[in-house]
Amino acid sequence: MPPDPQESKSKLDPSMRDALHARLRFYRDLGIGEFYRHAVEPAAWAQSEAEPVPAGHPVQATATAPQIPQSTASQDQETAIAPRKPFPAAPTPAPPVPPEQHFAALKLIREEIGDCTRCALAKGRNKIVFGDGDPNARLMFVGEGPGADEDAQGLPFVGRGGQLLNNMIAAMGLKREQVYIANVVKCRPPQNRTPEPDEAHTCSPFLFKQIDVVRPQVIVALGQTAVTYLTGEKRPLSAWRGTVHPLRGTKLIVTYHPAFLLRDPNQKRHAWADLQIAMRELGLEPPART
Ligand code: SF4
Repeated sequence: MPPDPQESKSKLDPSMRDALHARLRFYRDLGIGEFYRHAVEPAAWAQSEAEPVPAGHPVQATATAPQIPQSTASQDQETAIAPRKPFPAAPTPAPPVPPEQHFAALKLIREEIGDCTRCALAKGRNKIVFGDGDPNARLMFVGEGPGADEDAQGLPFVGRGGQLLNNMIAAMGLKREQVYIANVVKCRPPQNRTPEPDEAHTCSPFLFKQIDVVRPQVIVALGQTAVTYLTGEKRPLSAWRGTVHPLRGTKLIVTYHPAFLLRDPNQKRHAWADLQIAMRELGLEPPART
């Protein structure tokens, strides 16, 4: 008897599951982001069911098309993958906050989030990872969501990816304390999976509020998820990189997520080229080599 796919899925070896997850992130960072599971058009499915079996075909002797009870057929339609919903419009940018009030304004956003249970990610998190850095930063980094280290410490980008981000910031001639760092979602997705659209759409208004308070000159989006939910447009990463895009009165530059760079260090030079665009916009010179 062939294995039950659901049973196989639940028995997937954890290392295999992690490897699959890494591979999917790899493809996603390349801009290949459409993966379908049983995406069957109900109309096409119905048509193939209705196709007559030719006379004399061996199947005809043993199998007439099974009659599916009405209730089961309608359940199948309800569980089919829904067509992608259009992205909700990003909130209108808020009026500027005086620089001396940025810290307090960010604190108010954190208080508004509270002990948030607005989306399903609340169930598995340890700590909400709000954001970190200078409330008056000229440069802001936006990532996807917290990982295990971030979830444990309540701070963004503190694991291996965070160490690499710190190195990237240092290469730009800045200190981490001089930039602001936040994520699309503030709670860790289980097994570090990509946030679901409803989770990202529920949480991202807080990110937009943070952006409107900090008002950085430049935002660097780290990876596909960050740029997708910042802009509301789904395009391959390659279509975003290498150019400056307007976003909420600031300039958006797009590069790879540090986790992707850890998996494929050859891409670091391309990320450095992206960061040099940000430096040009900020009027920064790279630090002299010693
Ligand atoms: S991810 Fe955002 S919206 Fe979801 S529970 Fe956490 S703070 Fe709330």
